[in-house]
Amino acid sequence: MYDLLIKNGLVVDPYQGLCEKRDVAISKGKIEAVESNIASDNARKKIDAKDMIVVPGLIDLHAHVSYNVISLSVEPDQACLKKGVTTVLDAGSTGHLNFTPFKKYVIENSRIRIFAMLNIESLGMIEFMHRSSERWPELLTCLNGIFTPLFVNIDETIKVIKENREHILGIKWAHHHITGLELARKVADRIECPIMAENRHIPESLKYLGKGDILTHLYIHRDKEKNYGCILDDDMKVLPEYIEAIKRGVILDVGHGKGSFSWKIAEKAIKEGIKPDTISTDLWIGNVNGPVYDLPTTMSKFLLLGMSLEDVIKATTTKPAEVLGKLGEIGTLKPEACADITILKLTEGKYVFEDTMGEKRIGDKKLEPVHVIRKGLKII
Ligand SMILES: [Zn+2]
Repeated sequence: MYDLLIKNGLVVDPYQGLCEKRDVAISKGKIEAVESNIASDNARKKIDAKDMIVVPGLIDLHAHVSYNVISLSVEPDQACLKKGVTTVLDAGSTGHLNFTPFKKYVIENSRIRIFAMLNIESLGMIEFMHRSSERWPELLTCLNGIFTPLFVNIDETIKVIKENREHILGIKWAHHHITGLELARKVADRIECPIMAENRHIPESLKYLGKGDILTHLYIHRDKEKNYGCILDDDMKVLPEYIEAIKRGVILDVGHGKGSFSWKIAEKAIKEGIKPDTISTDLWIGNVNGPVYDLPTTMSKFLLLGMSLEDVIKATTTKPAEVLGKLGEIGTLKPEACADITILKLTEGKYVFEDTMGEKRIGDKKLEPVHVIRKGLKII
């Protein structure tokens, strides 16, 4: 007897090369069977997924979910899990001095599965919501890169990562001086963990990234004052340093965010062959009410950019699971995998999708979450 049976859905599981009508049976929090016809009377509960898409629970590889610990964060069960995301990677909201409350009050108390990149800066992104030239004149000077008041302790950072390997994937560098990335490289080399770096201070920053490291904010616009790194040069050609980074095995992540996704850059870069490995939101309270909203909305933007449904699902399931080192356990619907499942509807209509430059595109399809199952239990 199965605990739950999902009938009649289009199962898309890139890990198994599946994109066809299948039934999915779940028992004891795990996938039990994926077959073309499983008898209904063998299940305690059923979901009819006719005209719906059944995929492994979505994985958002860049969001900020240290809710009530770091003020930029969203509440992960509300903003992620209920929108179809069953696993989220917090991208450096906390550093070694404030990771413990994040673990104790959020990671261990949420229904969604949470991993973290520890910020190279000891206090993480604690100042992010409080930037203003009146209140923090020295900080603003630092943000403009004139000097480097980084608050970093490499030994303590390494200690916290080592003590929390089950939660912490690696080290994050963002927002501040490039010296932070140099220090992040030292940490990553000493304990063999990946770095997630912002697409900033290009091309110097790319030389710190190697195989398995993650470059986020892939399609950010050019802003020389803020040192944003645009993947395209003035002639809209891909900079050779990015091609070299891709050859080394650097993971390209979307990290849409409030200021990091430009339609024009994405359209041209994809035409030049630069597709994302992983599609993520960079969700925080500054973009959860638009233009990001949630992961399915971000995925819909990539359908509009011409990526196939299978590729969009791969970039939000199989690939991020591989980056997390968890492929097989999550990111797939193969038997024995954790029963994290998202059931989506591809609705048709007229939808306005906005980038972070205020530019709009009209799409005719949108992915929307209908049901979310986490470890075999129905969330919505
Ligand atoms: Zn972020």
